[in-house]
Amino acid sequence: MTAVTVWNEYRHEREGGRAAEVYPDGIHATIAEFLDERGFDVRTATLDEPEHGLTEEVLEGTDVLTWWGHEAHDEVRDEVVERVRERVLDGMGLVVLHSGHFSKIFRRLMGTTCDLKWRDEGETERVWTVEPGHPIADGVAESFEVPETEMYGERFDVPAPETLVFASWFEGGEVFRSGCCYRRGAGRVFYFRPGHETYPVYHQPEIQQVVANAVSWAGPVDGPTPSFGRSADPPERE
Ligand code: ZN
Repeated sequence: MTAVTVWNEYRHEREGGRAAEVYPDGIHATIAEFLDERGFDVRTATLDEPEHGLTEEVLEGTDVLTWWGHEAHDEVRDEVVERVRERVLDGMGLVVLHSGHFSKIFRRLMGTTCDLKWRDEGETERVWTVEPGHPIADGVAESFEVPETEMYGERFDVPAPETLVFASWFEGGEVFRSGCCYRRGAGRVFYFRPGHETYPVYHQPEIQQVVANAVSWAGPVDGPTPSFGRSADPPERE
């Protein structure tokens, strides 16, 4: 069973207003609940816990980490970011959600600014599945609508994804690469765009399906441990 740690900054939802109404127990609680219902072994971690809830022990026991942050990216301590990065290179999956595009961990793994256009006016988004045979598209329609959301538009300053699974269109005419697959070291990384804190995006069945598929896809594989350095004893030598 895939062990998932759902990480959330968990600030907006405690500040009251719309975010607190839509996610009264935090975005992490909603995500953890639908992953738990689908049979994953789920725990949560948040920014204000010691070590942001991401101790060596927690990360060792995590197959896939999901990441949601927005207003406090700078408060994530660099040593924790480095710890997560090392685990990804070692094979842990990472699913970065929405405003996590600006998280330290995503920017470090991508090596680019990860900047984009945005506009928060509750516009409609239509998400298109552009790679229907990909495991993250399993059970997902050719296209589906997010009725009200924040717009993200291109250019999205990330490296070209190894596979682009979803692309979005917005009412204003902007488009966006919404579902991007990467590998870093032995680990798999998936970026998924939908999910602003003031809209019930993570309550939507299509979104839950994609996040669950991404967690399944990103899990570690039992591959060999590579060796490095001078090869003194090559396999073809007697
Ligand atoms: Zn947002």
